[in-house]
Amino acid sequence: MRQSLLFTKTKKTAPKDEVANNARLLLQAGFINKEMAGVYSYLPLGLRVIERIKQIVREEMDAVGGQELIMTSLQKKELWEVTDRWSDENVDVWFKSELKNGTEVGFGWSHEEPITQMMKEYIHSYKDLPAFVYQFQTKLRNELRAKSGIMRGREFVMKDMYSYTIDPVQHQAFYDETIAAYNRVFERVGLGDDTFVTFASGGAFTEFSHEFQTITDAGEDVIYINREKNIAINEEVMNEKTLTELGVTADELEKVKTAEVGNIFNFGTKKCEELGLFFTDAEGNQVPVHLGSYGIGITRLMGVAVEHFSDEKGMVWPKSIAPYDVHLVSLCSDEADAAKADALYKELKAAGIEVLYDDRDARAGQKFADADLIGIPQRVVISGRTLKNEEVELKARTAEEATMVSLSALISALTE
Ligand code: ATP
Ligand code: MG
Repeated sequence: MRQSLLFTKTKKTAPKDEVANNARLLLQAGFINKEMAGVYSYLPLGLRVIERIKQIVREEMDAVGGQELIMTSLQKKELWEVTDRWSDENVDVWFKSELKNGTEVGFGWSHEEPITQMMKEYIHSYKDLPAFVYQFQTKLRNELRAKSGIMRGREFVMKDMYSYTIDPVQHQAFYDETIAAYNRVFERVGLGDDTFVTFASGGAFTEFSHEFQTITDAGEDVIYINREKNIAINEEVMNEKTLTELGVTADELEKVKTAEVGNIFNFGTKKCEELGLFFTDAEGNQVPVHLGSYGIGITRLMGVAVEHFSDEKGMVWPKSIAPYDVHLVSLCSDEADAAKADALYKELKAAGIEVLYDDRDARAGQKFADADLIGIPQRVVISGRTLKNEEVELKARTAEEATMVSLSALISALTE
């Protein structure tokens, strides 16, 4: 992408009305646009990050047998009444509206009810099970507070997966596989070392649900961790009973601030019983299906990555989710050199490298400041000076010093 053609521009300063660092940086760099509190549009650079995160999640969900679909945002009131989750007393984040004829509808904040209802069309016998379905969907939640930037939106992208299984054993096997798949996701986005599978409250069937919590000061949660024993406990279930059950003592645990990037739980057979999803087993009995629910906050994860990796100059994207692989910055003033920069841009693209090419007519200082703000992992500077020796200057976003690389060796230097 030629930066001269990119319609978004960086701003000199971060917006004053925004408190969260993630939103301040993303707005300043032109990754997102603020529509209102807690409601952000994703612009070309931001969308590329989302798509890269989604692709990692998609690969891992496919690997455990997930099948992708997409459900609607408009939801039927009656379905949620069956499970007693329509009232604002029981679910405090509903956005609701009505059709012209007065029929009430809800905007999807989660999808267990409609997906389970839909599955009644397809699940009849034990031969139809297990089934694992997932989607990337824009959820709408009327959150009370929206001060964490894209980490808590009123409209945000979630990956939600649902497992339909025949019994607790089949359920547990998939649940465990999904924990491993989630760990791979967080590993791949660069947050593996600071993301913990955390015992938390909830789950209709089990005592605990599992949250995936990433350490960040911008988080809204508090958990207690022990890295050696690989144990993490949400403060909401931090009590003697939990400690005894998990075989740890309070003084072995460290208190940290975190953000919940994922949450998985077991509904047992409760929801399928309520909604009438049964299957016929091998003996001809009618048996309720087991349901599991598995979320990852895609846009929250993007915000956490900004918070986690940024420095005083701007964002620092991990390779796997950066909007581009390379920021090619041209400081060429004469035409012959500019033509060489253009040729290099084309050559890098042809090699399968995704490049943001700063071909703008701007000062070097501004270009470097923008490159640091945008945070692409590798910066390549080409100028009349570097071209004297048929070279360019290569610098990782986090490195202090740049190194000179000959034009002919650049692609191997970037891809090694
Ligand atoms: P929280 O406790 O942070 O309010 P939750 O427990 O309500 O979240 P879930 O319903 O389990 O969240 O949703 C699955 C995932 O979606 C969460 O783990 C989180 O990563 C993400 N998520 C939830 N609410 C929001 C939001 N308002 N904005 C962005 N991401 C969200
Ligand atoms: Mg939660």
